[in-house]
Amino acid sequence: MRAILTNHLLILLLGIVLSACSPTSETVHETRFMMGTLVDFTVYDANTKNAAMAIKAAADEMQRIENLFTIYGDQNNSVKIFNNAKAGTDIKLPSEIDALLTRSMQIEQKSDGAFNPALGSLNKLWGFSQPTPPTSPPPAEEIEQIVSSSSHCLQQRADGWSRTGKSCQLDFGAIAKGYALEQGMKVLKLHGIEHAIINAGGDIRVGGSHGKRPWQIGIRHPRQPGQVIATLKISGDKSVVTSGDYERFYLYKGKRYHHILDPRLGMPASRSQSATVIADDATTADGWSTALFVMGADGLETIEKMGMDAILVDADGTIHTTKNIESRLQLSLSPPMLRTSD
Ligand code: ADP
Ligand code: MG
Repeated sequence: MRAILTNHLLILLLGIVLSACSPTSETVHETRFMMGTLVDFTVYDANTKNAAMAIKAAADEMQRIENLFTIYGDQNNSVKIFNNAKAGTDIKLPSEIDALLTRSMQIEQKSDGAFNPALGSLNKLWGFSQPTPPTSPPPAEEIEQIVSSSSHCLQQRADGWSRTGKSCQLDFGAIAKGYALEQGMKVLKLHGIEHAIINAGGDIRVGGSHGKRPWQIGIRHPRQPGQVIATLKISGDKSVVTSGDYERFYLYKGKRYHHILDPRLGMPASRSQSATVIADDATTADGWSTALFVMGADGLETIEKMGMDAILVDADGTIHTTKNIESRLQLSLSPPMLRTSD
């Protein structure tokens, strides 16, 4: 996963200070650095000691998931073993990795290849997750060679998975953070926590509510740091995840190059500035926010058909949303933002 700080969304936890003064409810807040970002845990209306224990257990679980899926760093794991195995060999993946790969392949199929879990080589070639970020694009011939060998390059066998060539490498960078958020919330609930919010650098999973009010979430303007394009109010089991071109990028000869790649071109996807997906679970929201970013506004129909909601800022800065999102999620666009199409 990534190695720099991110903050896609600004979360507005209005009223938390007030609620903390009430004798019946306590708000416990803690921040950890993991998955290359700051992860904020806010637990509302719970016994302080239990909340602290729950947060620690959730953070440990999220760290475990990062270690399990990352293709970076020195520690070995099953994903790296797969990526280094001889092409054509069947490898049995641990069930958790197998399950997330299966989900990823479904997103790949439903997004017509906008999402691809086998982009490890291409992502490494572009280098956005390396400790020293790049300053110029890699050679076109190298991109072409990898693109042709990373499409449909994974094969599911009776006894595991195999890859068709050396350049076919797993990378769960677009979905593992969502899975970690999901598991983090699961652990909080196992500790009896009902009302909580986990914010991993702007990617959010909420559970329950913020007292009698819903949680209120601001969606970051992709070009104006510190400003929001919209706020939405949510409660219950929901996740809000954004993929944007403004976190890991550089300008080269006046053009922006960033870390979300169009697998079919091998180049940074150029249809969007940011894509926010709201789904019941964070794994789905994370996977689809990356897919939608690559698909651009045309992808909103697919999102809608699957019963999710989304807000897409296209390459021109125009905001598009799924239909009826305003009433369903109490979304309000910040003036002077105007939705120009749906
Ligand atoms: P972030 O990690 O910044 O929140 P994403 O969830 O969109 O953003 O994930 C981006 C990461 O996913 C990249 O760093 C890379 O590892 C991987 N990736 C990039 N493009 C794709 C793609 N089209 N399909 C699947 N994974 C991708
Ligand atoms: Mg994603």
